[in-house]
Amino acid sequence: MDDCIFCKIIKGEIPSERLYEDEKMIVIRDISPKAKVHILMIPKEHYADITCLDEKRAADLAECLLKLNGLQERLGISKGFRLVVNRGASAGQTVFHLHIHILSGSKMPGF
Ligand code: 5GP
Ligand code: ZN
Repeated sequence: MDDCIFCKIIKGEIPSERLYEDEKMIVIRDISPKAKVHILMIPKEHYADITCLDEKRAADLAECLLKLNGLQERLGISKGFRLVVNRGASAGQTVFHLHIHILSGSKMPGF
């Protein structure tokens, strides 16, 4: 998508602190952290949100999540982390390219 910030970051047209990359995803540091560690896992395929999953996208996303296990040390989240996915503006979504927030490093408030 031409006007998508995350597609531009994936293509390297907008700089980011890239912590990990493979053929399916990038993991970058959030530009406006809401926790001591605030990272974004972004599948490379552009689709708006979690409701746009099909079989292939779900399988790709599962692969990305599986990789998170092995990345905990590198990302500095091995003591614990919270995953957040916003779907829709009313839930706080501002970038309409699916991404998973990974929050860690400070005590999270309960729900
Ligand atoms: P959302 O609100 O859509 O769930 O999350 C979007 C996230 O992307 C926000 O936490 C915001 O700080 C982050 N973000 C927006 N623009 C950029 C950017 O250009 N670079 C990085 N690294 N993060 C961004
Ligand atoms: Zn995109």
